[in-house]
Amino acid sequence: MPELPEVETVRRGLQPAMEGSKILKAEARRKDLRFPFQKDFIARLEGQVVTGLGRRAKYLMADLASGDVLLMHLGMSGSFRVLEGQVLEGKVLEGKAGDTPGQFHHPRSEDRAHDHVVFHMSSGAAVVFNDPRRFGYMKIIARNALEDEPLLSGLGPEPLGNEFDAAMLAKACANKKTSLKAALLDQRVVAGLGNIYVCEVLFRAHLSPRRLAATLAVKKTAEPTDHAKCVVSAIHTVLNQAIKAGGSSISDHRLTSGELGYFQHSFRVYDREGETCQTAGCGGIVRRFVQNGRSTFWCPKCQK
Ligand SMILES: [Zn+2]
Repeated sequence: MPELPEVETVRRGLQPAMEGSKILKAEARRKDLRFPFQKDFIARLEGQVVTGLGRRAKYLMADLASGDVLLMHLGMSGSFRVLEGQVLEGKVLEGKAGDTPGQFHHPRSEDRAHDHVVFHMSSGAAVVFNDPRRFGYMKIIARNALEDEPLLSGLGPEPLGNEFDAAMLAKACANKKTSLKAALLDQRVVAGLGNIYVCEVLFRAHLSPRRLAATLAVKKTAEPTDHAKCVVSAIHTVLNQAIKAGGSSISDHRLTSGELGYFQHSFRVYDREGETCQTAGCGGIVRRFVQNGRSTFWCPKCQK
């Protein structure tokens, strides 16, 4: 499942094709993805200029000139690709020679049977959403109703946002009876972190995934401990590095595989069971265990 850095990478990859450009035609090739499309889905998109393409947690949010916001979630297997030239039902309508439907930036999505949504932009690009498993979804919401939107209302602070700091994290964890790992996966505590990056964060903060979440707060006052500060700092480092790696992968991928996936090379502990710990001077061995149904990778020697 894509995590926040991957979604942010997709956002940056789509920005040139979508931002400031009008949706000339929109296609929904099925009645539903994870949820049915709204009845007026196409009507609210066509003719609208995308004034901005933002992100909240793992949602892409396209602001439309009408005052609507198009919310898009990649689910488990969703991906976007950008085709040069305008393509309708497989035929190139406009575009330079060579702008054939076969020239994909993201060959992963070449199984056209799973192309479920297409936006034909005035930029000349066709933005195609492909999702074999169909856990992804799209929903249009009036901007002034975003606060009441159930999909968004339970989300905690953005981990890279200005308001998220050690004090806020400590307060959210102070009365929790769960493990630190479970707390960081709780979208109400902080939005957009998934299993992989939580493993990475705890590794860099040298904290055990089994540690009680409440130990990030001083008892009674709920002031942040030094551990809380380490966790916030590690969250910033891990996410920013992954986004940076993703950003450089956008241009690479256009030349090669095109898959906007995970950036494995940047993982220090995830999926490294049995390998020597990368913490300088530690010498421990990375272990794996199942925690809340998910694989946790950690170094028992330097994560306390
Ligand atoms: Zn270690």
